Amino acid sequence: MNIQTSKLINGKNIATHLKNQLKQELQQLITHYHTQPCIATIKVGHDPSSELYLKLRDQACTEAGIKSIHNNFEKNITQPQLIQKINQLNKDPAIHGIMVQYPLPPHITQKTIIETLSPIKDVEGLHPINLGKTLLGDEHLIPCTPQAVLTILEYEKIPLQGKNIVIINHSNIVGKPLAALLLNRNATVAICHIYTKNLTQYTQNADIIITATGKPNLITSSHIKQNTIIIDVGIIQTPHGITGDVKLDDVIEKTKKVTPVPGGVGPVTIASSLKNMIKTYKNCMEHPQK
Ligand code: NAD
Repeated sequence: MNIQTSKLINGKNIATHLKNQLKQELQQLITHYHTQPCIATIKVGHDPSSELYLKLRDQACTEAGIKSIHNNFEKNITQPQLIQKINQLNKDPAIHGIMVQYPLPPHITQKTIIETLSPIKDVEGLHPINLGKTLLGDEHLIPCTPQAVLTILEYEKIPLQGKNIVIINHSNIVGKPLAALLLNRNATVAICHIYTKNLTQYTQNADIIITATGKPNLITSSHIKQNTIIIDVGIIQTPHGITGDVKLDDVIEKTKKVTPVPGGVGPVTIASSLKNMIKTYKNCMEHPQK
């Protein structure tokens, strides 16, 4: 594959830059509060992608000075048992943030679990209070992947105001909060998804495309105009390794900048989760719960 590397956005470099900044901030906070931050993770079952993500996030936590306590359950755990565990973590003053690993098994309702989390310990920013605040422009705990996309665009000094941005994803974790964040920055946003008729009609008019479908090679040169910026959030495990939604060798000529997979959005998402952990830690230290 002959790739023009100058057009590739280096997510690993951006993540390193962000992690170094966060490490410094965290050291100052630990000195101030005399307490090491401690995050509780919850994992149900053995989803391979979740396990890889957890391993990478753990590494990043250790490097930053954040302790992680893992709560791993077999997939036959009941919803009431899981809720009881979350309530216990919500009340525990030694826990400064909670991260639930998705997907959960079908007998557990994701919405109920998210609503059980204490909003101040909600590292992923998915609790209705935190998502509502994001929608209203009061951005505090922002979901990690949309936050990573914003961080990349800011780092690359890509202006957003007045730009035509197409998001291909309408999930609660990626597309919906990302649309709110971009609207907060005065972009013109179109959200496309599996039911969108004639996707190309939207993408061909986009200055920036953010795709998160999990469908390999969905975005090709025929979808884009000259100088489009593409952020590829998709992560697909194939027999040949990990790939994204974008047919990279096909779009590279026309695109202005594009994130590769792997090495694009993924590492920045992990760094963004550290950023949120520092926020939940501060929340807990400043507003200790009775
Ligand atoms: P999801 O299944 O909830 O959402 C997929 C979205 O893609 C939906 O909106 C769906 O309508 C849309 N879609 C699917 N096929 C399409 C098609 N052919 N045309 C147009 N739209 C289509 O998944 P999700 O949890 O939002 O994750 C999406 C992808 O992003 C996955 O590949 C996941 O692994 C990846 N992901 C990456 C990160 C990261 O940090 N890089 C984080 C979260 C998710």
